[in-house]
Amino acid sequence: MAKRLFIVSNRLPIQIEKNNDKLDTRLSSGGLVSAINSYLGSDVSASYDAVYWAGMPCCKPAEWDEVVAALPGSDFTYLPVFFDKKNYERYYNGFSNSSVWPLFHYFPSFAEYDRDNYSSYQKANAAFADALSAQLRPGDVVWIHDYHLMPLAAMLRQVMPGLTIGFFLHIPFPCFEVFRLLPKQWQHDILSGILGADLVGFHTIDYATHFLKCVEMVLGYENDMHIIRYQDRLVKADVFPISIDFAKFNNAFDDQRVADMRNDLKKRFPGKRLIFSVDRLDYTKGVSHRVEGYRRFLERNPEYREQVVFVMVIVPSREYIPKYAERKKLIDELIGNVNSKIGTLHWQPVIYQYSSLTFEEMLALYTACDIALITPLRDGMNLVAKEFVASRKDKRGVLLLSEMTGAARELTSAIHLNPNDVEEIAANILLGFEMPAAEQRMEAMQARISNYNVNTWAADFTAQLDIVKTKQKEFQVRFIDTRDQRKMVSGYLAAKKRLFLLDYDGTLADFSNSPEKVKPGGHVRGLLSALAQDPFNEVYLVSGRKGEFLEKWFGDLPVHLVSEHGAKIRMANGHWQTLVQPRNEWKPQVMGVMEQYVKRCANTFVEEKDYCMVWHYRKADSEQVKLRVRELVAELQEYARSLGLQVVMGSKIVEVRVTGADKGTITRNHILPGKWDFIFAAGDDKTDEDMFRVLCGITYAFTVKIGPEASFARYNLLTPLSLVSLLESLVRSADDHSPVTQMRHTLQEEEPSANNA
Ligand code: UDP
Repeated sequence: MAKRLFIVSNRLPIQIEKNNDKLDTRLSSGGLVSAINSYLGSDVSASYDAVYWAGMPCCKPAEWDEVVAALPGSDFTYLPVFFDKKNYERYYNGFSNSSVWPLFHYFPSFAEYDRDNYSSYQKANAAFADALSAQLRPGDVVWIHDYHLMPLAAMLRQVMPGLTIGFFLHIPFPCFEVFRLLPKQWQHDILSGILGADLVGFHTIDYATHFLKCVEMVLGYENDMHIIRYQDRLVKADVFPISIDFAKFNNAFDDQRVADMRNDLKKRFPGKRLIFSVDRLDYTKGVSHRVEGYRRFLERNPEYREQVVFVMVIVPSREYIPKYAERKKLIDELIGNVNSKIGTLHWQPVIYQYSSLTFEEMLALYTACDIALITPLRDGMNLVAKEFVASRKDKRGVLLLSEMTGAARELTSAIHLNPNDVEEIAANILLGFEMPAAEQRMEAMQARISNYNVNTWAADFTAQLDIVKTKQKEFQVRFIDTRDQRKMVSGYLAAKKRLFLLDYDGTLADFSNSPEKVKPGGHVRGLLSALAQDPFNEVYLVSGRKGEFLEKWFGDLPVHLVSEHGAKIRMANGHWQTLVQPRNEWKPQVMGVMEQYVKRCANTFVEEKDYCMVWHYRKADSEQVKLRVRELVAELQEYARSLGLQVVMGSKIVEVRVTGADKGTITRNHILPGKWDFIFAAGDDKTDEDMFRVLCGITYAFTVKIGPEASFARYNLLTPLSLVSLLESLVRSADDHSPVTQMRHTLQEEEPSANNA
């Protein structure tokens, strides 16, 4: 079947303008458009047979019909999403750009929390989901872009559960303390919306980490090496720093038009040192601090007056949002002030242009300047920084770059600065002017951008998406059907050395609100006993419980007991052996923290074991305790790292345990080395995943997760009851095949015929 890729962004990459009653269209510019276009034009996208781009054309359907035949040629098919104007305003200028944008860029005081805007945001995403679902078919790949469309992946997933979906966020993802400023329902919707994707991409590791933390704090899903087992799927969050077409910018240095414009600039400012900056009009770009920093530089270094010109270009953007219009006024005033107070009749310190530049104009400025002064207060990536570096084929020029940009993580050889500190900006301008050419360190930065260019970015993302999808198949929730059961039984019957690794709570028996009072039923004891009495079987009860509990209820059975997740072992009828050295020095500290949470959350309690401390919250009000659980885990993790401990969220428990006391380690080191030809392992929570992971890839290992979530286990069953009946069927199958039973069957079959005779 043809492999089809659907790129989805808020706007289609075209602009439609009315000129003299005629509609004109042209391809729009911008980082995403040039990144995707460059990717689609390259060989790396050849694995797709067809590409579609879905977005809002920002015109009426009738107007679209008028322009559709004359759309600019492209490597993709346009898929317009229509939406009414009133709701669009609320979705785009409202929620997207007056709530998410300021908050995610750490401008919480600018963020608005308007419910109508939020509702339009959801409606816009639903309009995308409707338009896409009409086109999508199984096997398609959807790549959703940016903060306008955070709920979309989950909406699509609901309609087509098997779809391959990637989501990429082009702006920062803020830390939890900022994210939690959103109303709770919105936090929940946004995160679960994004988690509808299979792969979630960010520019930097910080953004990915913040996202994962928010998922943990708000939704309660932990991650393992950036992979979240979310509902019945795996979702991966990873880092893909967007880049540029390095060759295009590097080669432009020699373009005749660029060279002519560069010479014109040099003639226009003879003998002057040039600083250059270009940004969209946006309060995140740090323009006012930049102008102040430049002013401070001229005040502190009067010898540079009349020797320097700062060419500052601001590209109009979102002027209809009040905060942007205010910013424009402020910048105009500041620049006017510097020019009038410091400038002279012969010298204008800031040359200011409020309009966009052509590619050649921009390249002429990138390649003519001595310093690129890029000082956003917060910026997801900042492509201008990368473009400047790539364009300097002459290996000259100094990049002064805000440490609050995503680009600063990659361009480590630039001069980094704090964009709020005007003194630091001033000092670094001086440093930049005085820096010898040999120290300007363009080569290392160019190597980074040419190695990880825009095609690498897109190819990396789409390749990872395929990998995640393959990995998901390994983790797919697969409920045991009769065929699986038959396979298990025949494996069991053929085997002579069978190993059973069984968790207790939540696996063989339902959870109880008072785990200490639990009395295991005779049924389970009978089953374990029957299993263990088969001479081909070895049965291990691998539990998080203390040794005393296990011994009290199962000590008389021929089963081996493993307590506290693998800290101690007692072979059937033997004595307890310690596998991990007990340590107690950490307990008072952890107890202190947990007791605080017992005070805060009614109906919770702490259980102390030899190797771990457990906070139980099964009896607490689940809504009230939700956030506290995440806070406790975050607090305990602080201690855990330095004390050699692990923090694990189990089923309604938070457990701190000594590293090494886990079911994976005991399985690998102490149990698995026997020569087995059939392994059966069952468990229900995170602690059992360590055991499943060790058994992954062993063909004769049947691993079963109790519960409907994605797991390292091969199969899922819903309840302990269904596990018990599965195990009983194994016991029965062996009975049915035992020589005595076989003989009985034969006799029964022969009897009637004997009578007949
Ligand atoms: N740009 C442009 N025309 C201009 C000025 C800038 O197309 O007149 C481009 C610039 O080349 C860069 C992008 O706009 O690719 C700005 O991207 P950046 O990541 O720096 O900031 P953003 O505007 O996305 O916040």
